[in-house]
Parts: sequence; structure tokens; C-alpha cells
Amino acid sequence: VSTRPLLEQLIEALQCQPGIGPKSAQRIAFQLLERDRERGLKLAGILAEALERIGRCASCRTFTESEICRICASSVRDGSTLCVVESPVDVASIESAADYRGKYFVLMGHLSPIDGITPETLGLHLLEKRLEGGEVGELIVATGTTMEGEATAYYLKEIAARATVTATRIAHGVPMGGELEYVDGSTLSHAIASRREY
Ligand SMILES: [Zn+2]
Repeated sequence: VSTRPLLEQLIEALQCQPGIGPKSAQRIAFQLLERDRERGLKLAGILAEALERIGRCASCRTFTESEICRICASSVRDGSTLCVVESPVDVASIESAADYRGKYFVLMGHLSPIDGITPETLGLHLLEKRLEGGEVGELIVATGTTMEGEATAYYLKEIAARATVTATRIAHGVPMGGELEYVDGSTLSHAIASRREY
């Protein structure tokens, strides 16, 4: 049991997030205590509930509190086109920027053997099974253009080839070394529209 003052513990706990250093953490803690106690309590409640109840979609691996996410469950989305992205942020970007009606597969990262991120970690065995299922006709690979993103794209192309699924790559307009997250909406929309086999 920690005997340190609660205020100190709060300030330290707030620093668990990237971008929040001691100064910011202190400012947030004081702000919550001075003026935002009610909203702070609401935040604490929703945070606890979200962390407990939000899991991964059994089909595409994105975050959801259901067994299957909204997009995977949708009957109006086209299951023959599957777009592979690195993170749920990318799904949100494509959803808001592009007129994409297919479904997604979310890797939650990219291949990086040095960091111990293997095809298994990224659920690529699940993806492979899905491609073998025969529903998917085109695999749109929208991983970043970083070295790891490109290595992942190469691996995905091989999986697609084994399942005789066409793999297309969005690259046009996405700067080399870039994460999808930082590409603006119209560029992203164009990048998807002008995807090509690779
Ligand atoms: Zn899903």
C-alpha cells in the first residue's frame, strides 16, 4: 500500500500517456481538482468501463465492444474487397475520407522481427484463413510506406498469391516513409482510388 500523497500518485499516473510529461500531468491534475471534478469522475468511469469492455472484433481485429464490429456486421458493406491497415486510426481515416464500401482487416502494427512482431502477432494466420475462404477477391494493402510497412505489404502479397487473391497497393500520394495516419483526406481518397497490383 502506497503511502505517498494521492496528488503525487495522480500526477504520476497521468504520465502513462505519450506526450504527457510531468508539467502537463500536473496541469491536468490541478485542473480536474479545481474545476472539473464532475467531468473527472465521468472520465474515470468511462475509462474503466472502456478498458474492461472494449475488445477486438473476431473478424477484423479492430476495437469493438461486440463480438463482431459494426463494419464487419454490416450487410451493405462489400465483403469481396478487404483493406488491410495497420491500426484502427487508419480505418477511421479511410472511413471519413474515402468512398470505400469494402471491409477491413486491422493488423494492430506491422511486421518488425526486431521488436518480436511476427505474422502471428498481427493475426496473419487469421487473414490467410479468411482469404482461403473464397469470399475475398481483392486485398487492398494500405500499410504505411515505412520500411516495416513495405515489408508487411510484401508478406501480404505472398499470402494473397497463395490464396489466388489479387493484391493491390495504395501508394500513390502517400509519401515514402509515411504512416497513413498523417496523410490528408483527399490524398488518401486518391491513393485508394488509384491503387494497383504490385
Ligand atoms: Zn470487424
